[in-house]
Amino acid sequence: MKKPMNEINTDENALGVVDQPSQLAPEEQTQEVSEAQVAAILGKPAPAKKKAKKTTAKSEPKLEEVTPEAAEEQTTPEAPAEAPANEPLSNTEAKSEDTAETKSEGPEGAADNGEEHAQVVQLDSAHEEAPEDDTPLLKVVNLKEWFPIKTSIDKRKNVYLKAVDGVSFELRQGKTIGIVGESGCGKTTLGRTILRLYQPTDGEIIFEGKHIEKLKGEALRRMRPHFQMIFQDPYASLSPRLTVGEIVGEAVKTHKIVPKEQYKDYVVDIMLKCGLQPHYFERYPHEFSGGQRQRICIAKALALKPKLVICDEPVSALDVSIQAQVINLFKDLQESDNLAYIFISHDLSVVEHISDEVGVMYLGNMVEFGSKKDLFSNPMHPYTQALFSAVPIPDPDTKIKRIILQGDIPSPANPPKGCKFHTRCSKCMDICSEVEPKFKDYGDGHFVACHLYPQD
Ligand code: SF4
Repeated sequence: MKKPMNEINTDENALGVVDQPSQLAPEEQTQEVSEAQVAAILGKPAPAKKKAKKTTAKSEPKLEEVTPEAAEEQTTPEAPAEAPANEPLSNTEAKSEDTAETKSEGPEGAADNGEEHAQVVQLDSAHEEAPEDDTPLLKVVNLKEWFPIKTSIDKRKNVYLKAVDGVSFELRQGKTIGIVGESGCGKTTLGRTILRLYQPTDGEIIFEGKHIEKLKGEALRRMRPHFQMIFQDPYASLSPRLTVGEIVGEAVKTHKIVPKEQYKDYVVDIMLKCGLQPHYFERYPHEFSGGQRQRICIAKALALKPKLVICDEPVSALDVSIQAQVINLFKDLQESDNLAYIFISHDLSVVEHISDEVGVMYLGNMVEFGSKKDLFSNPMHPYTQALFSAVPIPDPDTKIKRIILQGDIPSPANPPKGCKFHTRCSKCMDICSEVEPKFKDYGDGHFVACHLYPQD
């Protein structure tokens, strides 16, 4: 039987798993942190006479004490007469908003002195207005991301690497979609394109009813706090020259999430929420273990109050006990903040644990999508069946029949005709090499693209 992630013993000391003993020593475990120490870190006068407070790596969230309401109270009188950030608008409206905002850059630059609070109000109000119950937070329609690898004057002769080639799905607030597939299938490119780190080649990305696939400049910058990314490598994704406080707070300042005077309190609260002690504020990333660094990355993403977080292999660089801690932190934060995740991973056990729905990608296409239960109990696509048959089961008495895929994954620059999987599929039929199968719903939102199932 598989052991649930939440039953894994996460006590590093009990397991004797400590990445860098010198760094993890006393402060990673339970600590006594007095309010006077916190006040000293924040540069405030020490409180009068209070008992020392016990804090642990999983400190209780204290965000409600800090900003949103307070910031709103302080800033409401200066609210601008602009439309709220999440008011639905069409593709064309998005364009015109972009143009209008670009034109008004001058006054906005000048407004740095006086309109900081106004922006705070706008971001907060955008965060509070939840979409309609059944409205997806994110809708991706036929999304394509092609990278040109050979260009010619005649555009028809251009050669493209089709990293993402027509992907569609919907994600609701507070839910998690796991994206799985072997290396090179386009998972990471999909995440980055949704986040608008790449300009999509074609298709639609609709976030809270707004088309964001063509947003540019200031309009895109103002949407950025709502969707964040946590990268695979917590060592490479943190600047070694910035302290933890600066790393977590940098974007808070840039996007004016809270007024200047509340900045330090806000950053410390986010750090506590992610299990980071207040005195880490002045420390540098090299002083921490992998698990703590990933917590810093999570705090950095959460500091902008996002609604959607794209997690790109966030635990694959961590050892198993730390993986369980970080995964549980993701789940706790999702519950408390109603976050939506797109969780990209190779690890099917982790995906099964954290996801509500799962999408399987192969060579830039989604070949199967459905609820976690449907997908894990009844995988329909031959590629999904092969992928899931490779999951090890920690029970020596259970026999599993491994499906070994023959051959290598074809090049996305020159994908096979028809079904892209036909070169490796043991159930391949004549039609498979000629006609591309439709991505069809076979009941309860279980989509599959395969000729083994009725296509009409
Ligand atoms: S369409 Fe044909 S080749 Fe593709 S997965 Fe289905 S059976 Fe295999």
